[in-house]
Amino acid sequence: MRQCGFLWEMINKGVWYIHKSMGANNRRIRRLIVDLLWENGPMTKERMADLLSQHRSVKVIPSPHTLSALLSKNTQVIIVGSEKIENIVGVKSAHAIYDIDRELIKSTEDIIFTRSPSVATPKEKQRMVKCDECGRNRVFPKGAEKCLHCIRCE
Ligand SMILES: [Zn+2]
Repeated sequence: MRQCGFLWEMINKGVWYIHKSMGANNRRIRRLIVDLLWENGPMTKERMADLLSQHRSVKVIPSPHTLSALLSKNTQVIIVGSEKIENIVGVKSAHAIYDIDRELIKSTEDIIFTRSPSVATPKEKQRMVKCDECGRNRVFPKGAEKCLHCIRCE
């Protein structure tokens, strides 16, 4: 019984560890997605999967389902259109084209200013301030008294 309890504890710890590392991996991929959109322009989820698979730092490529979730959950990413793609048997389907919000993100620095706490690095999280105008937690541009969302909205 005692051994069983010990094993159970190890399993629990293991599961917790896997959850934790998956969270960090997805956070990293969500940041990378924004960088790739910034550098390469609007693209479909399939093209994004291609670019991620070519990226050295990505060890586990997210499934198409996970990738959709990562793209749609990211507040810096928007859908800008769709593309008709014909598959091998000639069936056409519409694939969403994603891009970063370019009204909001106009320089590489802006990428950091628009990151939500859920995608930020621990260091960025430490620099975050709650915006008085909109309540978002963001890293503020130097000398600014409100977040970039509020600055750009004016
Ligand atoms: Zn704000």
